Amino acid sequence: MKHIQMVDLNGQYEAIKNEVDQAVLNVIKTSAFINGPEVKEFQADLEKYLGVKHVIPCANGTDAIQIALMALDLKPGDEVITSDFTFAATVEVVGLLQLVPVIVDVDPDTFNISVEAIKKAITPKTKAIIPVHLFGQCADMEPILKLAKEHNIPVVEDTAQAIGAEYTFSDGTKAKAGCMGAIGTTSFFPSKNLGCYGDGGAIYTNDDNLAALMRSIVNHGMGQRYYYERIGVNSRLDSIQAAILKIKLKHLDQYAASRNKAAAHYDNFFKQIPGVHIPARAKNSTHVFHQYTLKIDGINQFEMQEYLQQKGVPAMIYYPVPIHTQKAYGPERFRHEDFPVTNHLCKTVISLPMHTELTNEQLDLICFSVKEYLTK
Ligand SMILES: *Cc1c(COP(=O)(O)O)cnc(C)c1O
Repeated sequence: MKHIQMVDLNGQYEAIKNEVDQAVLNVIKTSAFINGPEVKEFQADLEKYLGVKHVIPCANGTDAIQIALMALDLKPGDEVITSDFTFAATVEVVGLLQLVPVIVDVDPDTFNISVEAIKKAITPKTKAIIPVHLFGQCADMEPILKLAKEHNIPVVEDTAQAIGAEYTFSDGTKAKAGCMGAIGTTSFFPSKNLGCYGDGGAIYTNDDNLAALMRSIVNHGMGQRYYYERIGVNSRLDSIQAAILKIKLKHLDQYAASRNKAAAHYDNFFKQIPGVHIPARAKNSTHVFHQYTLKIDGINQFEMQEYLQQKGVPAMIYYPVPIHTQKAYGPERFRHEDFPVTNHLCKTVISLPMHTELTNEQLDLICFSVKEYLTK
């Protein structure tokens, strides 16, 4: 049996090797490394896939959130509400722009931002809300958008972990993750569901004005050539990465299906084990399983991780530390007891290997090793 990895990037590459090698060599031969035709082609393909008017490629998923916030023209001291249970990038850029991160608790089942908690956190200074579509399924966007609209607050969706997930509104309308709020952001970090072979990211919007603004911001704030209208950044997706992504995008739905198949295998096994909680499915969203994350009562996560490692089974703890306690983000502004769900999740979650190449034999070994640890 092949050695088990958290994410098997090489196995996925092998299946599309000829096409990818040729596309990469073609960029090298033409030397159009920056803003080559591949970037525009991938942009158009992704717009079509998502059903969104504008995709603006950029250098990574962290830049994407930063650029989105820069386009909203916020002032230092404005408040931005986001989740306590997420990757740091979401909160970091808020601080970088001298905005105030207002961290709120999450839903115990889906791990996504709690709508009730957002409601309580809104003040006259709230100028943006960033729901994170965590682990592969959409936050509950319909009530979030309703609340945001009532208070005239733009929503920026961090969809770095949920590209391709689809949300269904109560009237039956469907929309892809990242295409519901004012702006959506994503990452093409290699281990993300649509990963390139380096860094990459993108911003989505249906708003023509925001799109024009963000296209200027990613390019040093330039308007007319060599006339700079605002402070911008240099954030580009390079042509080699775009060429690879263009090929992988064609397989994205198939990749999501493979991940769901692995998740179903895990579910069938773990649902029978007392004290083990399989990932809950959000009622309005499909799941693309960026992570398969169990909650286990009374677990010692790091001991379990160590045990599994010895059996050749990698596991990760996403996330071990709540954002509201992190030194960088002003923990003195928060009361620990206001975050009961995240505090509990950080002590009970463990993520198992999840990628497109898992075999039944590998899945069985992972399942049995977890059970062995829990019943030893
Ligand atoms: C990965 C990730 C990011 C950052 O993406 P990079 O491309 O690594 O900058 C932002 N938010 C979330 C939720 C992520 O998982």
